[in-house]
Amino acid sequence: MTTTNKMSKTTICSTCGTQLLAEPEIPSFCPICTDDRQYIPESGQQWTLPNELEHCNIKITQLNEHVYALKIQPDFAIAQRALLLISPGGNILWDCIPYLDKPTIDFIRSKGGLKAIAFSHPHYYSNMNDWATEFNCPIYIHQNDAEWVPFIIPHVKLWSGDSLQLWDGLSIVHIGGHFAGSCVLHITGITPNGTLLCGDTFNIARSKRHMAIMYSYPNIILLTKDEFAKAYQKASRLNFDTVYGAFENQDIEGNAMEIFKASMQRYKDGYGL
Ligand SMILES: [Zn+2]
Ligand SMILES: [Zn+2]
Repeated sequence: MTTTNKMSKTTICSTCGTQLLAEPEIPSFCPICTDDRQYIPESGQQWTLPNELEHCNIKITQLNEHVYALKIQPDFAIAQRALLLISPGGNILWDCIPYLDKPTIDFIRSKGGLKAIAFSHPHYYSNMNDWATEFNCPIYIHQNDAEWVPFIIPHVKLWSGDSLQLWDGLSIVHIGGHFAGSCVLHITGITPNGTLLCGDTFNIARSKRHMAIMYSYPNIILLTKDEFAKAYQKASRLNFDTVYGAFENQDIEGNAMEIFKASMQRYKDGYGL
């Protein structure tokens, strides 16, 4: 990891949206995409300069009274959404998208700004340094994923252990599985039994009747039995009725616990646990 500041020249991987240093030279390959969990497209490594995204805008969708989804239009890179939780003690951005424009800054400021940014895992680090600098807030990343932070600014706060308690009953909970540091954000008080922002720690199926947990989703690689068992043990302590995932329409409201239990039972049966 290299320590730098916002004046450094950067480039963005066109496949995963991760911002990397472009000096002293643009890297040959994106480390996120050369990993088994992602891929370099057949056409080869492509880079996008930050100003080449200026034709984009960010669609903001309200998911419930307290949660907004932020997504780049048109689709870019992985095309994930970031989730903005509005909370009395301070707002939190869960995961990130690799572009930030003035209307989005104004919108977030109108809601009270950001008290923190927190991550499920490295696929969504995006241009997190730009967001943290703009809102002058910490970025919480689990220590187990420290090796994937492409470059560090003082805003990055690595944490370790099973969970990090924040404010208003919010906690970042370490699950592992997809990445060694994969986490979820657990929220109390906005739905009767709790809400989970899950990133890729769990991937909500298009049917909304299954929650997957895998080493790689694009490359369809299962977790080992041991990795699944450890992640399941941690996840089974959570209580929730609503889950919002990393992509549009990955919303399960009200009956998420039933779907989670049935989904995990399939894995347990498959792994012989
Ligand atoms: Zn990449
Ligand atoms: Zn991922």
